[in-house]
Amino acid sequence: MASSQLIVLAGPTAVGKGTVTRALLDRYPQVVLTVSATTRPPRPDEIDGVHYHFISEEEFDALIDSGGMLEYAIVHGHHKYGTLRAPVEEALRQGRCVLLEIDLDGARQVRRSQPDALCVFLAPPSWEELERRLIGRGTENPQEQARRLQTARVEMAAQDEFDVTVTNDDIDTAVLELAHLMGLE
Ligand code: 5GP
Repeated sequence: MASSQLIVLAGPTAVGKGTVTRALLDRYPQVVLTVSATTRPPRPDEIDGVHYHFISEEEFDALIDSGGMLEYAIVHGHHKYGTLRAPVEEALRQGRCVLLEIDLDGARQVRRSQPDALCVFLAPPSWEELERRLIGRGTENPQEQARRLQTARVEMAAQDEFDVTVTNDDIDTAVLELAHLMGLE
C-alpha cells in the first residue's frame, strides 16, 4: 500500500500532467481526481464541472473566506485555481486514493497542511522538449507562452522540494512509475 492516500502531482506547464493523469485514471479508476475551481474562462473543449468548476472571482473569494479551499494559487500571473476541500476530505474518509494536479504554490501549501501527502514532481526530459510541447499544443498565444515558460523556470528550480521526481519521457513509463509510488501495483 502507498504510505499516503493523498498524492500531489506538480510540474511545469506543458510537461504533460493532464495526459499522464488521464492515462493513470484510465488504468486505475479507483484513483480520485478532484475537479478544481478556477476563475479562468473555459477553453472551447472544456466542460464546466468536468475539467474545472468555472467560477467568478467573487465566488472564488467567498470559498477562500469560508475555508472551502484546501489550497489555492494565482497561476501564470492572473487566474486563480484552487482545490475544493470537501470532495478531497470525503474521498480520503472513504479510504480512496486522491490525486491533486496543481501548481507549485498549491503543492507547497498542501505539503505544509497535509504532511502525509506524497509530493511528486513531473519533469520534462529536457528544457528544449518542454518548449517544444508548449508551442506544439498551440493552446496559448505567444505572449501567454512566454509567461508560462517564465513560470516553468521557477517551477523547475523547485524540484528538490518534492519527495520524488518522475520524468515524463514516455507516458506509459511515467504512469507505471506513479502507480508504483502510489502503491497501486
Ligand atoms: P490550465 O490553465 O492549463 O488548465 O492550468 C494551468 C495550471 O494550473 C496547471 O499548471 C495546473 O497544475 C494548475 N492548477 C490546476 N488546478 C489547480 C488547483 O486546483 N490548484 C492549484 N494550485 N493549481 C492548479
